[in-house]
Amino acid sequence: AGPRVGPNAEIVVDVAAIRHNVRVLRELTGVPIIAVVKADGYGHGMLAAARAVREAGAEWIGVATVDEALQLRDAGYSGPLLCWLTLPGTDYERPVAEGVDLSPYSVSELDAIAAAAEAAGRRARVQIKVDTGLNRGGASRSTWAELFARAREGERVGSWKVTGLWSHFACSDEPDHPANDRQEQAFRAAVALAGDCGLHPELLHLSNSAAAVLRPSARFGAVRCGIAVYGLDPAPGRTPDLGLVPAMTVRTRLALVKDLVPGDAVSYGQRWVADRPTTVGLVPVGYGDGVPRHAFHPGGGAEVAVRGKRRPIRGSVCMDQFMVDLGGDVAEAGDEVVLFGAGGDVPTAQDWAEACGTINYEIVTRIGGRMTRTYV
Ligand code: PLP
Repeated sequence: AGPRVGPNAEIVVDVAAIRHNVRVLRELTGVPIIAVVKADGYGHGMLAAARAVREAGAEWIGVATVDEALQLRDAGYSGPLLCWLTLPGTDYERPVAEGVDLSPYSVSELDAIAAAAEAAGRRARVQIKVDTGLNRGGASRSTWAELFARAREGERVGSWKVTGLWSHFACSDEPDHPANDRQEQAFRAAVALAGDCGLHPELLHLSNSAAAVLRPSARFGAVRCGIAVYGLDPAPGRTPDLGLVPAMTVRTRLALVKDLVPGDAVSYGQRWVADRPTTVGLVPVGYGDGVPRHAFHPGGGAEVAVRGKRRPIRGSVCMDQFMVDLGGDVAEAGDEVVLFGAGGDVPTAQDWAEACGTINYEIVTRIGGRMTRTYV
């Protein structure tokens, strides 16, 4: 096979920004950081993100799946590692053998972990996950007493050490939402009940990025920060300026520039029609690369930066390409196009989220497809 040409676009990840953001969060909260690197580091690359957060002093790494946890172990990361989303029938032997903290929320899961600890010849590490009102994962309140009793028994016979107890907020990006107080109270009740059952886990944690920043009372023994580590606003419009720096920039080049006359319609469905003479540029990435198709819609859409100016997307985003309105200004095929990045002249992932009717998490986690990642 001959040499390959390379993809049309690259994701540039500023690892110094990730390190900076971790330091900001560590300083602000004053408690250990469980830096969340699931979903390929929110699109930034899991291994690179893990390395950066550890270099900056994050004490823990958090992931969703056992597979992610084992990828980190395979890559040589031997430090504190929490994972929290397992399926019935998951084989816990390797994560137990590798010292991964698991997050059981049912007696049957604890039974499976006990069997794995026996097989691995090693005490497991478990951080019990309680549901305090998200009504997603975690043990429902009606099951806490039974679960804690089983956890205590397993600790007594040496199946595991209960290293932590934790829960997750539903509305932490809305600091005044009454659910936050209710969840914090429920979490304190869970901690008290665990104590009554003879469990005294070292690590208590409840907060994600938004709560870590906005709710000092809920910092407990650690905070689990994801989105803020990548420099994005965890509670848009409500977060004080912390100087977080977005770590991801997505860039490509104009493939083509052409002139339009009034009445020319652009892209599939002819959903945008020029009402004046203009030039448009072809950006060679599309929804096949994770660019949301909703980045153009009749009510508006996202912008990209060309030659230091923000330019609107015009016409439907296609699988591999979309068009931008250059407004008749000079631009040439080959000019750099930045979809989103650190702000200023360049739109941010938050700008894209607002334009696309979603959240910044989805913008960065989804982008990728055929793009390469470059670390700077
Ligand atoms: N904790 C859990 C259980 C999560 O699922 C997540 C991510 O959604 C986080 C923490 C990190 O949240 P955030 O990215 O809002 O900081």
